[in-house]
Amino acid sequence: MSTTEQAPAAVQNGAGAHQGIPVENPATGETIATVPALSRDEVTALVERARAVQPAWEALGFEERGKVLRRMQKWTVDNADRIIRTIVSETGKTWEDALLAEVMYCANAFGFWAKHAPEYLADEHVKTSNPMTKGKKLIVRYAPVGVVGVIGPWNFPLTNSFGDCIPALAAGNAAVLKPAQVTPLTSLLMEEGLRACGIPEHVFQVATGTGREAGEALIDAVDFVMFTGSTETGIKVMQQAAQTLTPVGLELGGKDPMIVLSDADVDRAANAAAYYSMNNGGQVCISVERVYVEEPVYDRFVAKVADNVRALRQGVPTGPGTVDIGSMIYPPQIEIVDAHVRDAVAKGARVLTGGKRGDGPGAFYEPTVLVDVDHSMACMTEETFGPTLPIMKVRDEEEALRLANDSPFGLQASVWTKDVHRGEQIARRVEAGAVCVNDAQVNYTTLELPMGGWKTSGLGSRHGAGGIRKYCKQQTLLVTRLAPKKDPHMFPYSARKTKLLGRLTKLLYGRGKRA
Ligand code: NAD
Repeated sequence: MSTTEQAPAAVQNGAGAHQGIPVENPATGETIATVPALSRDEVTALVERARAVQPAWEALGFEERGKVLRRMQKWTVDNADRIIRTIVSETGKTWEDALLAEVMYCANAFGFWAKHAPEYLADEHVKTSNPMTKGKKLIVRYAPVGVVGVIGPWNFPLTNSFGDCIPALAAGNAAVLKPAQVTPLTSLLMEEGLRACGIPEHVFQVATGTGREAGEALIDAVDFVMFTGSTETGIKVMQQAAQTLTPVGLELGGKDPMIVLSDADVDRAANAAAYYSMNNGGQVCISVERVYVEEPVYDRFVAKVADNVRALRQGVPTGPGTVDIGSMIYPPQIEIVDAHVRDAVAKGARVLTGGKRGDGPGAFYEPTVLVDVDHSMACMTEETFGPTLPIMKVRDEEEALRLANDSPFGLQASVWTKDVHRGEQIARRVEAGAVCVNDAQVNYTTLELPMGGWKTSGLGSRHGAGGIRKYCKQQTLLVTRLAPKKDPHMFPYSARKTKLLGRLTKLLYGRGKRA
């Protein structure tokens, strides 16, 4: 996508004549566009405009808002090629990663939220056992917070940035999206799509810019902050949001363990290990980042994984099927990946394949498999976020579980065994927000299932009912229809009335079993 193509959206976003942010194709090193770096005041102005139009968007109701989302679903499919090209150009990822994990996710999400928003946000009619309020109408309702600010990372410019705006909009909020500085073009393209599909002016806007200026300004101005990114930045976001008591949703980093038991289907486990550690160049928050394999199948598993990874074709993605693995999306991330590999090797790990930067001007790191690793090494304890897979031999499932849980992160995990009952029991003992048995990552595509991290991997969740209710203010309604002129508990107090109330308390709650 050219700079000229971006210009209309950028101008709409109030970009003044100030310094722009160059956008680079990390696979080639070429600058492909420039977008405005919005100032604090410009971001605040975007939010004010969003606030002004939000009530009318809310008043349209689920059906009319759903029509815009369904049109957008079709627009996304009709424009899939253009969206994929844009994603690939600003991330260096493969066509397939852009199609499977971004375009397909988003196309599904438009329909999902259009359909389920009315159901998840319907008034809840509550029944009570409390005699004080029996017979009254008791309702819990969900009203949109107002303006949602979404701050996204660079690894999935569509799914993890724009994707979180869809339920926010479906709920009746206006949304302002601050994409990662290095991958803003996809968000601008989706803004263009929403306009074409008839979203009212300013209901969805993109605030391109830096985290420190545009990101911080957004946190100060909005009614809810949906943040996806590193744990380090997530802490800063929450600290800042605390100043205005603005609620936050945080989807943060991970160090997902894979546990391979001796009764696993080793072929499937090895294919999955190679795929789910290397897809999207290993830059998936729920990538398999470390593997624990029971001794009896360790050698077989390692040999198959190493063969699979050795066979991967890496390079500049120029079309469908041209490569299996693209470049790093954010070139400085290579330093972290390389540091983890070098640290492991210095402490005794062996590199079975890869282990170094790729050639050429692009930001490539070779798909890498490490063995003889342990928890003294950063590659087993810190988020690597690159195409590496360290594999460790363990005595038994207890050791695997202990090591899997020996982490500050708790995003996702997987357990591999043919005994699915045993797998499920082990899964329940893993400290992570989502655990798959004989699978990985695909739970993310299942929008009925909540997705959120434990420990330092996040706060709150996306998807499912909670994934849209978080964008709402909960309101309780109590409606009294038929009632006496005065209720028994009202003034004046008297000893007789108090005695009666005391007896009532005993009658209602004093019949518990004696200790
Ligand atoms: P990052 O934390 O560096 O940046 C994320 C976003 O925050 C960017 O838009 C950035 O501009 C903005 N930002 C930076 N400083 C800010 C500040 N002080 N105030 C407000 N905004 C600020 O993350 P990244 O490097 O872009 O993404 C990679 C990380 O994201 C990895 O840790 C990965 O695990 C995580 N991630 C998590 C999920 C999930 O669902 N849990 C999904 C994708 C990525």
